[in-house]
Parts: sequence; structure tokens; C-alpha cells
Amino acid sequence: MKKIYLDNAATTMIDKKVFSVMEPYLKEDFGNASSLHWFGEKGYEAINKARNQAADFLGCNILEVFFTGSATISDNLAILGVIRKALRQAQGKPHIITSAIEHPAVLETIKHLEKIGEIEATYLPVGKEGVVRAEDVEKNLKENTVLVSIMYANNEIGTVQPIAEIGRLLQTTNYKLKTKIYFHTDAVQAANYLDCNVDKLGVDLLTLSGHKIYGPKGIGVLYKRKGVEIEPIIFGGHQEKGIWPGTENTAGIVGVGEALKNVQRSTAYVQQVEKLRNKLLGGILNSITGTSLNGSRENRLPNNANISFSAVEGESILMALNEKGVAVSTGSACASGSLEPSYVLMALGAGIERAHSSIRFSLGKYNTEKEIDYVLKVLPEIIGRLRKISPLK
Ligand code: PLP
Repeated sequence: MKKIYLDNAATTMIDKKVFSVMEPYLKEDFGNASSLHWFGEKGYEAINKARNQAADFLGCNILEVFFTGSATISDNLAILGVIRKALRQAQGKPHIITSAIEHPAVLETIKHLEKIGEIEATYLPVGKEGVVRAEDVEKNLKENTVLVSIMYANNEIGTVQPIAEIGRLLQTTNYKLKTKIYFHTDAVQAANYLDCNVDKLGVDLLTLSGHKIYGPKGIGVLYKRKGVEIEPIIFGGHQEKGIWPGTENTAGIVGVGEALKNVQRSTAYVQQVEKLRNKLLGGILNSITGTSLNGSRENRLPNNANISFSAVEGESILMALNEKGVAVSTGSACASGSLEPSYVLMALGAGIERAHSSIRFSLGKYNTEKEIDYVLKVLPEIIGRLRKISPLK
């Protein structure tokens, strides 16, 4: 059976080269990076190299790079860390600005803090294009705003947010009003395709994940600008300067470092991925009636096509494609299995039916034109068959 993987926003296949540099640290170079003997030294040096690779990718100092257990943890650390510090320093409740379409790692953390009464939060609308407006950030700033957290690119619809513009705006505000509003971005989905130089973006905190960039799972990166104060959220060790204590996942760290190094070298494939995505998108929109793209066409990652198919449930399309050997997803991987319509599509004003009838195709560097041709061949028949039996039609 054919196996075509179009779910790269959920996770990516590990690059063979990345795997081969990790392998020794799972085998003969297994030492604890904190041990003072030769075995430990090997691990320590490997982590140091990976920290340099991450710093090169981000355009920052190695002292500003922290390795964590996942991007979910990095997002939590950024938000909870800043808020805990602010709660100890400020009078009154700190205020956070975020968007309505953040990944749950950001959104649920902020909602939790709001629910337990520790913060005030503003969830910016994104309009039908799925894009946050920098003016809206400015309009919603308050005296007690301590953090703005806006994702670089959305995991469901791939829309790209004006991070550099928001970064400049906040820097000017901080300078003029002598405030200290920190800016965090979740760059997990953007890292393969967009410039993540932290100075160009004007961010204070930035999140990355290993497994979305052809690296291993269970490893995250948190960039924290020098001088930005966050409180740890777990305790019990000196590792990562106490911000993420616990014995280092040396192989994972080596893997994410190598993956980040490879991203910098692979700009040529961005055009290749975009060409295939455009072929898929154009093919579907032209050959199947009742189809529409969700989110902005222009401000979008080159690998994402999130399409609604009127009168058909997204889950039925997913299952039918799966039978033909094609892996896609509905909404975000974390939300799959849930019967709730995608909150991201609802925030775009899509309406329940459209939000239930969407499929996310997310391409990657291993996809080929033949695979796209195959999807374009089998999909019209699938949609036609499902529409015939659909109670929604
Ligand atoms: N942020 C975004 C935008 C994501 O797409 C994901 C993964 O789906 C995460 C955070 C969480 O990443 P991890 O699996 O490393 O916790």
C-alpha cells in the first residue's frame, strides 16, 4: 500500500543525518553531562555544541538558550515564569495579551491563570484571514500588561503573524513609557521556513520544538533574552541554570542542535515545498466544487493548505484518505479525537459546519510531485462518494 505523509505540522520524520549524530549519545557516549569524568565531559561538550547551533539559528548568545523537554514546556515556562515573577513584584493583577488562535500550550496556560484569578487576559481576534493586527496589540495594552504572547505561525491554518512589527511596537512602548512588557512567540511551526533571528523579531522569549524540524521528539528550546527574569516552575537540580532542572537529554539536545543547523542550510527546499503545496491547493480548489481555503492565502507558511469541503465531515475524509494510504489531519493533532469544532476555524468566523469539514494538508521536505498527483487523483472520488451519503448535503 502507498504511504504518503502530509501531516508534517503534527510531526516530521527524523532526518537520517540528525539520527546518526544522536546515536552515539544513546550508546557508547551515554555519560551524564554533569559527571566530572571523561564520560560526562563528552556529554557536556555535545550539549555545548548544540547550544552554539541553536544560538546561531536564533542569532543570540549561547547563555540565552535553554533546552527543555518539549515546546509545550517552553511555552509554559515562558508564561508561568514571567507571571510568577510579576506576581511577586507588582501590586495588582498582571495582564497578558495573546491571540484567540494560539496553540493550547499557550492558550490553556493563560486560561488556567485567568481561571485561578492570578491574571487578566485579552484574546485578540484574528479576522477571517487568521492574522493578528499590530494595532490591536497597541490598543489593548494596559498599565498592568506584563506579557504579549503571539505565535509566529499557526499550526492549523499556517497563517503567519506580524511578529517583527509587534516586536518594534513593544520596544517603542517600553522605551517611551519606561515599561517592561515582555514579548514571547511560539515559533514551533515557523522554524522550518521563516527567519527566527530574535533581534530582527524583537522578541524576549521564543519557543522551538525538535520534532517539527526533522529532529527528535521530547526536546524543546526556550530562548530567553539576557535580563528577562522568569521564575522556575519545577525544582530539584542545577541543569539549564535551574530553569529546567533534571539530567539532560543529551541525545535529544544533540538532535535538536543538528536539526536547527540543517534548517539554516535548506532554504532551497522552501520553494520546492511551496510549489507542491500550490499544486495541491490549486488542484483541489479547481477540481472539487464546494471547497475553500481557510485563512490568508498570502500570509501563510509555504507547506500548509487547510481546506474545507462543504457538506462532508473532515473526519470521514481523513479516514477515507487513510484507507488510500494518505495521512492528513483535521484541526491540530492535539484536538483530534475531540468532537468540538476547531476553535481556530471558529475564531476565523467559519461557522460550525465549515469548521467541521476541514482538512489540514501539511507538506514537508520528503514529499514528491508524484505523491501530490496521487492525492489529486483519489480525492475527487472520495469527496463525491461522501457527499452522496452525507446528511449535511
Ligand atoms: N506549539 C505549536 C505551534 C505546535 O504546533 C506544537 C505541536 O503541535 C507545540 C507548540 C507543542 O510542541 P511539543 O510537541 O514539542 O510539545
